[in-house]
Amino acid sequence: MILIVFFSVKMKIVIMAVDGGHRDGGCDWDGRWNHVKKFLERPGPFTHPDFEPSTESLQFLLETCKILVIGAGGLGCELLKNLALSGFRLIHVVDMDTIDVSNLNRQFLFRPKDVGRPKADVAADFINSRIPGCKVVPHFKKIQDFDDSFYRQFHIIVCGLDSIIARRWMNGMLISLLSYEDGVLDPSSIIPLIDGGTEGFKGNARVILPGMTACIDCTLELYPPQINFPMCTIASMPRLPEHCIEYARILQWPKEKPFGGKLKYIFFYFNLITLCNLLPVHLYNKETSLDGDNPEHIQWVFERSQERAAEFSITGVTYRLTQGVVKRIIPAVASTNAVIAAACATEVFKIATSAYIPLNNYLVFNDVDGLYTYTFEAERKENCSACSQVPQDLQFPPSAKLQEVLEYLTENASLQMKSPAITTTLEGKNKTLYLQSVKSIEERTRPNLCKTLKELGLSDGQELAVADVTTPQTVLFKLNFTA
Ligand SMILES: [Zn+2]
Repeated sequence: MILIVFFSVKMKIVIMAVDGGHRDGGCDWDGRWNHVKKFLERPGPFTHPDFEPSTESLQFLLETCKILVIGAGGLGCELLKNLALSGFRLIHVVDMDTIDVSNLNRQFLFRPKDVGRPKADVAADFINSRIPGCKVVPHFKKIQDFDDSFYRQFHIIVCGLDSIIARRWMNGMLISLLSYEDGVLDPSSIIPLIDGGTEGFKGNARVILPGMTACIDCTLELYPPQINFPMCTIASMPRLPEHCIEYARILQWPKEKPFGGKLKYIFFYFNLITLCNLLPVHLYNKETSLDGDNPEHIQWVFERSQERAAEFSITGVTYRLTQGVVKRIIPAVASTNAVIAAACATEVFKIATSAYIPLNNYLVFNDVDGLYTYTFEAERKENCSACSQVPQDLQFPPSAKLQEVLEYLTENASLQMKSPAITTTLEGKNKTLYLQSVKSIEERTRPNLCKTLKELGLSDGQELAVADVTTPQTVLFKLNFTA
């Protein structure tokens, strides 16, 4: 709490010092911002202890404060609308997607005529034409297409993403912008990150002050890759309709091979949005086996699931649910997006104005059964690979193979890298030990995976630089040989 109070006061100074202001006369009719003025121009029981009501804060929102919204989907549409109606006018939005017809039920800035167009462009056009004076600048791009100079221009960044990799990358980018003097963090280099995520009826909102409070990677291991339902439940004690569907899918399908074909078992990383970040999901290869898009396949699984459900007096197995379980569809729920985006936009408002104490720092929301919210302070991880500035240790015996190091980097709960590229310096030369993303280099370096660290010429204390899609910066590891 003390940290946050301290920061928001500092922040005010920092923000006020930045002036990229522009004037937009004419569109602010009498009473237009009364709803915002109520928060900023009078004291109240919940205001920040250091808050002094004034007209300056509103002017700051309207003319100076620059916000970046990442994602123009379910959360992004809500965020843009909320921010624009709260007085923020200088907003940029980044989204690499185009509009699909299935988005239209909740991504309310889009219309049927917009299908196929970039989400960022359409969302920006809609807001700009509907809310006078608002200047949303769209970027139909990936976040990775921009460098630090782009991100540095914003006062606050809000994420409404459905990908943990993108979220971690953004987190890493903001950490890379921090500057330290004699080991002391310069608060003016901090860009607050407000992160929202939803998954069905669950969601979370969090406030991250990079370098000061827990970052995305600090909390990564709270949510280890989670396998869906325990096999014993599916096989012997089903309680839910989903258990019956999983029984038909995992056990009956490969055994009975209703449509012929060979079974292939693959791991599939499924980007979930919020609490359980990466679920390795067992799927069956489409060409040879169960195809979630094939109605006959789904019908078969549906019928078997019904039989199984009847046996255990379980109700609720439907065709739609069967398809959802087989295809791992987590329905997007408009009301969850609305709640989480509202919480995020409120935090942006609180930090930009310093009028209220920001969320400290992690809010979970759940309305699967009744309504539940809970806020807790996620703690920084001392040796977080993203934000701690502490060298990362790798403990391996010299006889360990490079493959084991690779597996550690991808499977360790607090690292969860995707396709790490490992380089080092040997005899003064840069050497790529393994790199997956470029085919020719992968082929050339693949034999290294079977070699031991000793055979590769690595020594105790050797530094390994690891690059990965989860971070814009390479992570340095120090190899510690164990006996
Ligand atoms: Zn961290």
